[in-house]
Amino acid sequence: MIRGIGASDGISIGKVYKYNQAELIIEKLAVEDTAREIKKFKEALVISEEELSAIRDKTEKNVDAETAAIFGAHIEILNDPELSGAVESKVIDENVNADYALKEVADTFVSMFEAMDNEYFRERAADIKDVTKRVLIHIQGLEISSLSEISEEVILVAKDLTPSDTAQLNKKLVKGFITDIGGRTSHSAIMARTLEIPAVVGTKTGFEELNTGDQVILNGSTGEIVLNPTQSEVDDYIAKIEEYNKQKALWSVYKDKSSLTKDGKHIEIGANIGNPEDLEGVSKNGGECVGLYRTEFLYMGKSDYPNEEEQYKAYKAVLEGMEGKPVVIRTLDIGGDKELSYLKMEHEMNPFLGNRALRLCLNMPEVFRTQIRALLRASVYGDLHIMFPMIATVDELRTAKEFIENVKNELIKEGREVSDKYKIGIMIEIPAAAIASDILAKEVDFFSIGTNDLIQYTFAADRMNEKVSYLYQPFNPSLLRLIKMVIDNAHKEGKWVGMCGEMAGEIKALPVLIGLGLDEFSMSAPGILRARYLAAKIDTNEASELAEKTLSCANQAEVLELVDDFITKLD
Ligand code: PEP
Ligand code: MG
Repeated sequence: MIRGIGASDGISIGKVYKYNQAELIIEKLAVEDTAREIKKFKEALVISEEELSAIRDKTEKNVDAETAAIFGAHIEILNDPELSGAVESKVIDENVNADYALKEVADTFVSMFEAMDNEYFRERAADIKDVTKRVLIHIQGLEISSLSEISEEVILVAKDLTPSDTAQLNKKLVKGFITDIGGRTSHSAIMARTLEIPAVVGTKTGFEELNTGDQVILNGSTGEIVLNPTQSEVDDYIAKIEEYNKQKALWSVYKDKSSLTKDGKHIEIGANIGNPEDLEGVSKNGGECVGLYRTEFLYMGKSDYPNEEEQYKAYKAVLEGMEGKPVVIRTLDIGGDKELSYLKMEHEMNPFLGNRALRLCLNMPEVFRTQIRALLRASVYGDLHIMFPMIATVDELRTAKEFIENVKNELIKEGREVSDKYKIGIMIEIPAAAIASDILAKEVDFFSIGTNDLIQYTFAADRMNEKVSYLYQPFNPSLLRLIKMVIDNAHKEGKWVGMCGEMAGEIKALPVLIGLGLDEFSMSAPGILRARYLAAKIDTNEASELAEKTLSCANQAEVLELVDDFITKLD
């Protein structure tokens, strides 16, 4: 049995596909035998074409014709005589190695396409990069592995998956994933929950122990992985899957109900999303709001920043899709474990403590301006709440608000319509903001507590580092005291407080958070119905008594004991 951290609920049984991120190092070499280099290049083209045709055919059969066409386009690039002619000339004229020549030629094409003011050509640049990488790997005799290569149902095993890797996963084929690094709140884990793909992260050795083709059972709830299971183990897990499905049916009764506690207090239960397509899951699970739209996913997997129009369309789609229900759209939160290939950031010793999120946006006013323009233009289509991430001081908040005000005036001058009803709020995810929440509350419309970061900063424990994942302690009284402080301070100013960190979806946290007076819970959509089902069994006065007691516990274990006892007594 391999053990990791259960990151996304559900059980999958299937075959391993090992995702090997090959490192390409291309050096310029002086070569005598240019004919040999050209032969290597031509052979690499042939292998690449064979592979791409096979992937295209499988994708057409298992996914759809539209996705398959991408690989058809890749084959066309391979066969482009302009590209191969330029590579061969370079090898002969400059006496250089084939991989270096190909890289140079491809880079010229890529920069040319990227500079074009046309979405279609910019996407072709990404295709050329992809195809070139494949050919380069073959010239160097390395083994290829790519997420787009997956054409049958698999359980993906990787050392690590970046958020943009995760964003590319095809849910129809990837039935689960396993990574060596990461914790419950790393972004790949969060994505897995949104996509409803069972996942285990932080296995440390899974990548070494598992091989492509191995049969495994993955339990995303407990973090267990069974390698080459016996028939009786498979039968046991099938029974568990059936049990889980039965529970889901019980929760589904709550789909069209509003979220009420036993004594009739309304709490708002909504969803975190990463892109407009996630709204399907929100409505399937009866979400009452979007409590967090992580806009950074709009910026990932591209060769350049999304333009104003593209962003405007995405924000409008989400606001319209929610039909007047509240939508909290967070401004760009890049940095930490979320990188953009086209944004060259200086190397930082501690990226989670560095130039990320709002700090970065205020340092790149043009990028920020484009986003705020798109948001304000979309504001007329629904109940928009703009939220700033990573606020540490009231000065940052004031600067950001002033920025919005300026952009708003600019739009009005241009004759554009901007709603006067949009709200402005902040994430409370830095302890300094929690401690100053009485001051901040006077200057915002709402707070949303980001426990993923608040926990990592409060306990000084990197959320990506599985060695310190024991310090991810949502039930630690230190954290609960901070949360209480934030809620009480906001309520004194008549402002509401939500939570969009992963703790909001931890089922055991529900009674404590209801007891502390939290107004809104935003989680991965598949958790909504279970939370609503449990909320209906909770009396707010009893929950307040429980919350009060947890605040004077010595540690997380004592809190959990009280919570477990409370939950077992619910009927
Ligand atoms: C958080 O920090 O809790 C949060 C919701 O933001 P993210 O996970 O995107 O950093
Ligand atoms: Mg955060």
